[in-house]
Amino acid sequence: HIVSDEYKLVSKKWKVKPTSIDLGDGVFVKDGDMAIMAGPCSIESEDQIRKVINHLKENNIKLMRGGVFKPRSSPYAFRGLGLDGLKLWYELAQEAGIKIVTEVMQVSQIEEMYPFVDIYQVGARNTQNFNLLDELGKVDKAVMIKRGISGTIEELLQSAEYVFSGGNEKLILCERGIRTYEKASRNTLDLNAVPILKAKSHLPVVVDPSHGIGIRAYVPQMALAGVMSGADGIIYEAHEVPDKAYSDGQQTLDFAQSTLLADQIRKTFALR
Ligand code: PEP
Ligand code: MN
Repeated sequence: HIVSDEYKLVSKKWKVKPTSIDLGDGVFVKDGDMAIMAGPCSIESEDQIRKVINHLKENNIKLMRGGVFKPRSSPYAFRGLGLDGLKLWYELAQEAGIKIVTEVMQVSQIEEMYPFVDIYQVGARNTQNFNLLDELGKVDKAVMIKRGISGTIEELLQSAEYVFSGGNEKLILCERGIRTYEKASRNTLDLNAVPILKAKSHLPVVVDPSHGIGIRAYVPQMALAGVMSGADGIIYEAHEVPDKAYSDGQQTLDFAQSTLLADQIRKTFALR
């Protein structure tokens, strides 16, 4: 049954029907749909969480992103509120009927995070942390795997294969830009990956224009390009005062920009 030496179970040759991720309460990440995931790069405080949740509610956005364990290039940068921050966030999100997407950085965090997470995010720096992927394969909650910093499409699919073959089929792929020779943008958002991933795999594909381009003013147009490329969802960073954000403020939308973008994403998706 091996359809490729490199991966098989995540391949469309193995399973034709698109995989639908059912997060409960009518929230899905699936083919033919447009999931919007928005929120700050980092969870910072109760006040910040409340403001973001209100913003998401106003815009009927059901999935909130935010990091509590942050993989920072410098050890001196803000590294997140940790599990206590996640617990607080969970309480507030729960009340509001909002689902949580947050990064897991290491194996030991999987279990402690479990009650408070709807989608475990595997960050670009951990795409090839194979021990982490093996352990996420044993979990019965959704996992979103980001493409590695310099990762190929095939390597992303192989990473997904680790989780899927371990028994967890609730998997989402995320294109978040790759490192190239180009310095004018933070990363090079490879929208070519979207139709290729959709053709090769039955898993839903989400685009992250925030990390993909890294420049706030250009995030909306790359998000919309992502919609037209065939993505099943868009994840972007939003904060009440982006310039005061503890991380990634330069690529973070304010609430007015986020409101406009969510509306444009839906309208663009309707044209597809
Ligand atoms: C993030 O989502 O804030 C993040 C750290 O993303 P990435 O792993 O894509 O750099
Ligand atoms: Mn970020």
